[in-house]
Amino acid sequence: MFEVKQRKDMWAFAVLFTALQIAFLIIVQVLYYPPEMHAYILSRQPILTLMISLPICLYLGGQLHENYLRKQELKSITQRDRLTQAATRDYFYERLEEEPDAYGVSLMVDIDFFKKVNDTHGHMVGDEVIKSVAQVLRANCREIDIVCRFGGEEFVIFLHKVTPEQGMEIAERMRRSVAAAPVRAGDTTVAVTVSIGGSLKDATDDIDAAIGQADGALYQAKEGGRNQSVMQWNQRRSA
Ligand code: GH3
Ligand code: MG
Ligand code: MG
Repeated sequence: MFEVKQRKDMWAFAVLFTALQIAFLIIVQVLYYPPEMHAYILSRQPILTLMISLPICLYLGGQLHENYLRKQELKSITQRDRLTQAATRDYFYERLEEEPDAYGVSLMVDIDFFKKVNDTHGHMVGDEVIKSVAQVLRANCREIDIVCRFGGEEFVIFLHKVTPEQGMEIAERMRRSVAAAPVRAGDTTVAVTVSIGGSLKDATDDIDAAIGQADGALYQAKEGGRNQSVMQWNQRRSA
């Protein structure tokens, strides 16, 4: 199926198909009609086809472009969380299902005392805080990593092919960056911190087991006083 990604490609599509039609019709007619009619065919056929086919192909090109835009919009609705533009939970699993032997570090990030932010400043400011934290997390990741909004103010991040040391370093960089950048929403400035739990996923591990372990580490980070990163690198034992 043709994809017309940009509006200007409609013209390329229309010109290409019209040219193909002209060439095809000329070949068919030259083969079919006697040689004395060839000059006539060559003088009339291209202009006639151009007049009829170009507008039709332009219209079709426009429809293909609209289809492409709709497909992209649909993809974005299912793959990206509306508020933060982070990956949706479904898309996160979809990406990891495509690479079952992916290995790296899973992080679970939860905003500290977020209920208090909502209670004190209202849900709209709360939303801005979630959005801003997502931005900071993404800014500290590479293109190949996946930042997913896992739930309300919780994020799961999969850092591809990083070592435990690098994973801890990245988690700490994220945590410090969030703490260093209070969120401005209208006249309000809100100081925000996050707690982070991390675990390793090797090529044979199940992602849910890795997330479960990261969640356990996050619980320890909360218990330990919040605004900290805790990693559980020990091997999980499958039942
Ligand atoms: P803790 O430090 O233990 O994580 O404390 P907490 O207050 O952050 O506790 P918890 O994680 O349970 O709070 C989650 C709150 O997030 C509860 C819910 O009202 C709020 N929330 C969930 N989704 C959204 C959202 O999309 N926008 C806003 N503004 N709030 C949300
Ligand atoms: Mg939470
Ligand atoms: Mg929280």
